[in-house]
Amino acid sequence: MRSKIVAGNWKMNKTYQESKALVKELKKSVKEIKLDNTRIIIAPPFTNLQKVSKKTKDTCIEVAAQNICALESGAFTGEISAPMIKSIHVDTVILGHSERREYFGDTDELLAKKVDTALKNDLEVIFCFGEVLEDRKSGNHFKVVEEQIKKALFHLTSEEWVNIILAYEPVWAIGTGETASPEQAQEMHAFVRELVAERYISGISENISILYGGSVKPTNAKEIFSKEDVDGGLIGGAALSANDFLAIVKAI
Ligand code: PEP
Repeated sequence: MRSKIVAGNWKMNKTYQESKALVKELKKSVKEIKLDNTRIIIAPPFTNLQKVSKKTKDTCIEVAAQNICALESGAFTGEISAPMIKSIHVDTVILGHSERREYFGDTDELLAKKVDTALKNDLEVIFCFGEVLEDRKSGNHFKVVEEQIKKALFHLTSEEWVNIILAYEPVWAIGTGETASPEQAQEMHAFVRELVAERYISGISENISILYGGSVKPTNAKEIFSKEDVDGGLIGGAALSANDFLAIVKAI
C-alpha cells in the first residue's frame, strides 16, 4: 500500500529562531493526530536543517532538504552536497521544484544527475514536475509532464523507484492562490501513474506516492486528497503556519 504524505516546503522562509518556534508548535500539536499510513515531512532552509533534524529526531516528523548539488564535493562555492545532507541524518530531498527550474537553471538533464547523486547517497527524492499556464492553455500539459518525467527519471532501475516520491505541481497554481481542481489533479496523477506502469511494471506505479502541490490550504485539502490517485500534498505557503499545516495533515 502506498504511503500518504504531507510535505511542507518552507522555501527561503524562517530564520533559525523562527524555525525552532515552528517546530516546537508542530511537535506539540502533532501528538494529537492519529497518523494512519501517513508521513509528515518538512523541508526547512539549509541553515536550519540540522537543528530541525535534531529537534524532530524522536517524533513522527521527517525532515527533507530543498535541493542538492549534482556533484558530491569539490570547488563549487555555495553548493551543498548529498553526503553533507546525509551526514546530518536527513534522508529526503526535494528536486525539480519549479522555482529551481525557473530561477536556478535546473534543467531536466541536470535533474537526472541530481536524482542519481541523491539515490547513490541513499537519499529519497521528492521529484516535482508540472506545466506552466501556457502549456495548460494550449493543451500541452500532458506532453510537457511526460517529457519532464521521462528525461529525469526513466533511466532509473525498477529498484531505484522505491526511493522516488512524485509531486505534481502545476506552476500556475504555485503561490498564486489558484488551485488545480481535484479533477485536474486526479487526471494528471492517473496519467503519470499509467506512464510509469507502461515503462516499468504496474507494481511500481501502484506503489508510488504522487503528491499534489499548488495553493493547497486547509479549506481545499480534503477535496483534493479525496481523489484516488492523489496520495497527499506538497505544501508551500500553508506549511509556514503550524495550524494550517496540521489542518492539512488532518485532512488526509
Ligand atoms: C510549492 O512551492 O511547492 C507550493 C506548492 O507552494 P504553495 O502551496 O504556496 O502554492
